[in-house]
Amino acid sequence: MTKEKELFVSTLIKWSRTIDRPMPWKGIKNPYFIWLSEIILQQTRVEQGMNYYLKFTKAYPKVEDLANAPIEEVLKHWEGLGYYSRARNLHHTAQIIVEKYNGIFPSNHADILSLKGIGPYTAAAIASFAYDLPYAVVDGNVIRVLSRYFGIDTAFDIPAGRKKFDALAAEILPKNQSAIYNQAIMDFGATVCKPAAAVCSSCVMQKKCCAYQQDKVELWPIKANKTKVETKYFNYFVLAYKNKCYIKKRENDFWKDLYEFYLMEDKQLWSIDKLSKFATKEEWQRTKAITFIDLTQKLSHRDIQARFFTIELNKKPALHDFIEVDKSNMSKFAFPKIINSYIENYF
Ligand code: SF4
Repeated sequence: MTKEKELFVSTLIKWSRTIDRPMPWKGIKNPYFIWLSEIILQQTRVEQGMNYYLKFTKAYPKVEDLANAPIEEVLKHWEGLGYYSRARNLHHTAQIIVEKYNGIFPSNHADILSLKGIGPYTAAAIASFAYDLPYAVVDGNVIRVLSRYFGIDTAFDIPAGRKKFDALAAEILPKNQSAIYNQAIMDFGATVCKPAAAVCSSCVMQKKCCAYQQDKVELWPIKANKTKVETKYFNYFVLAYKNKCYIKKRENDFWKDLYEFYLMEDKQLWSIDKLSKFATKEEWQRTKAITFIDLTQKLSHRDIQARFFTIELNKKPALHDFIEVDKSNMSKFAFPKIINSYIENYF
């Protein structure tokens, strides 16, 4: 390894001894808790993830507890955190660990990586933090720090660029201090070499940092592809009869297993006129009143435009596959954020 790389590693580790960033999962060796923390922290700010970590470790102190919990309950605990496939994968993988590994979290990197929902980053984090195995974590934080410090101007989201960052991260990893180093670079990326407003003025890397020296901090790392955002139009029919309403579990895609109202997805939001044509004459006659409210939610790849039609009925609706819920009991179910927002403000 070159002197330049050695200096980077030693400066980083030295810096990590000076910072005070306590987090409940920091320094622990329990692979199950480390796994929980890493999955919760994906796409989530530490401040937000902290409460979820405490909630999950309290509700499910052992991997068996998570494996044996009903998925509805797990999703309810996850509510508000988004990317619900993470919760479904956690639940599924907990069951695999119980069935295939007798409840003992695997300690081999290949076995860890083979588990559903665990990619190279999370596998490296668990392997290094729990077992001190020499695997380097490579996520957005790490890529940003490496790109800026070493002046790597290859886009990180193309295969050649990713390979470059992976190779550099593996090369500079101090094999006997993998846990300390991985934690240090993650902390450094999160608190000093931040995406916007990097704290270069007081940074210990400043003198040797390519981006700082070349005035390219804002430009690096380089991304080749722009994220495509798809707009989805959800027309929700909130059918209400007396103090009851009707919900259904979503069966597929990004909100799988969460509950929702009767949904008509279309290329546009509906007018009340269009809704009246959709309903049968008999259904329309059962309707006492209709109002609607529009809400939006931005996901990483989707822009959700939703119109909630509140439809008061004078007769119980005949709906298959829906469950009838007392309005005061809605909080027992897990809903997407946009539906919770509707329930909290307009229900
Ligand atoms: S000087 Fe700025 S860009 Fe360079 S490592 Fe430090 S914070 Fe990051």
